[in-house]
Amino acid sequence: MINPIVSQKMRAEAGRRKKTGKLKESSLILHVDMDAFFAAIEEKDNPSIKGKPVIIGGPKGSRGVVTTCNYPARKYGVHSGMSLSLAGRLCPDGIYLKTFSGKYTWVSLRLMALMRRYSPQVEPYSIDEAFLDATGCAQLWGGAEEYGRAVKNAIKNTLNLTASVGIGPSRIVAKMASDLNKPDGLAVIEAHDVRNVLGPLPVEKIPGVGESTRKTLAGMGIRTVAQLADYPVKLMKAKIGVNGEALIKMAQGKGGDKITGLEERPDDKSMGHEHTFMTNVERCDILHGKLLHLCDKATRRMRRENYLGKVVTLKLRTSNFKTYSHQRALVHQTDDAQEIYKVASVLLSDLWKEGEMPVRLIGISVSRLFRPGEGNGVQEDLFYAETVCKRLKMYKALDSLRDTYGEDILGFAGGVRSRRHGISV
Ligand SMILES: [Mg+2]
Repeated sequence: MINPIVSQKMRAEAGRRKKTGKLKESSLILHVDMDAFFAAIEEKDNPSIKGKPVIIGGPKGSRGVVTTCNYPARKYGVHSGMSLSLAGRLCPDGIYLKTFSGKYTWVSLRLMALMRRYSPQVEPYSIDEAFLDATGCAQLWGGAEEYGRAVKNAIKNTLNLTASVGIGPSRIVAKMASDLNKPDGLAVIEAHDVRNVLGPLPVEKIPGVGESTRKTLAGMGIRTVAQLADYPVKLMKAKIGVNGEALIKMAQGKGGDKITGLEERPDDKSMGHEHTFMTNVERCDILHGKLLHLCDKATRRMRRENYLGKVVTLKLRTSNFKTYSHQRALVHQTDDAQEIYKVASVLLSDLWKEGEMPVRLIGISVSRLFRPGEGNGVQEDLFYAETVCKRLKMYKALDSLRDTYGEDILGFAGGVRSRRHGISV
């Protein structure tokens, strides 16, 4: 764990730079990219497959595509996005495993929580990648390389997984740097060295330059990053349109100089359920039982779609057709029915008491949703994350039973009792 005084310094520095909006020219960005993330997690959980070619996506030869594969599998020519049937022909003796997204999401949550200890500004970029604002942090570790090594060691020691880290003056340079020495790599590219290091690379090493762009550029005689960086902007725009200028800037290493943290990324999506009672309800225990059942239904959907939520909204319609709505933020993002019910029941107690106008409809929704790893938010508290892990196992078992035997096979005691009283949507 980092020294709390150091942490305070980092936050003060981040706050100072946040006020200015953009980072200064001396900005330093760290990009962390886990190595063969899903496959590495499976190898960690099952040491007997370590070192063998591991392909994640489904059974060998089945329909569908390879989600990811480890480095031994890549030697056979297998890669992400390839059909499983082709992978099966290229690597017939590989270990083929189904994608277990819940487990990978959980490790991703722990990774992002860990990264928050190394920078006050962390932007999750995908399930296994994040950008950290390293400005002001690196010098506290004695330099950029030492800082990068500290981040890598923390990941290794905490998650028992390897990551490749790149550090540079912009996001684009940091991301390209993390790809230079994979796996378990570390590369620091200083501002004055960007052209020397990245210039000789083929243009397809620039993130987002796919096969069709590569062909277009090759047709213009551009094959390396340096050739693209030197190309006249006007001419490029005339040939490939408005994206041409952005492409040249990326080749010059000028791509993104701001890290967007969780608090700057509002998300309006929500998921919920409501229930209209066949006869108006006057009893508190029935309302609370139904509320628990609705929380259970909403979070089941969230888990199915890999969402965590941050804000709970309770809706209540009384027998005179007046509708009330209250909301409250959760302390931690969650997909746990009981956590959401705890907040919802407080909202219900605030809004309605037994003996008041009977209730016709009750509804619950969870908003500020995000999928861990998509860059919209992260779990910040590692210790809380440990608790989540235990509950995740319980919900996984519950969801699996329901998938097999139907929704009514198991439920929370109060929620099961309340099911007979109306129509839920
Ligand atoms: Mg990765």
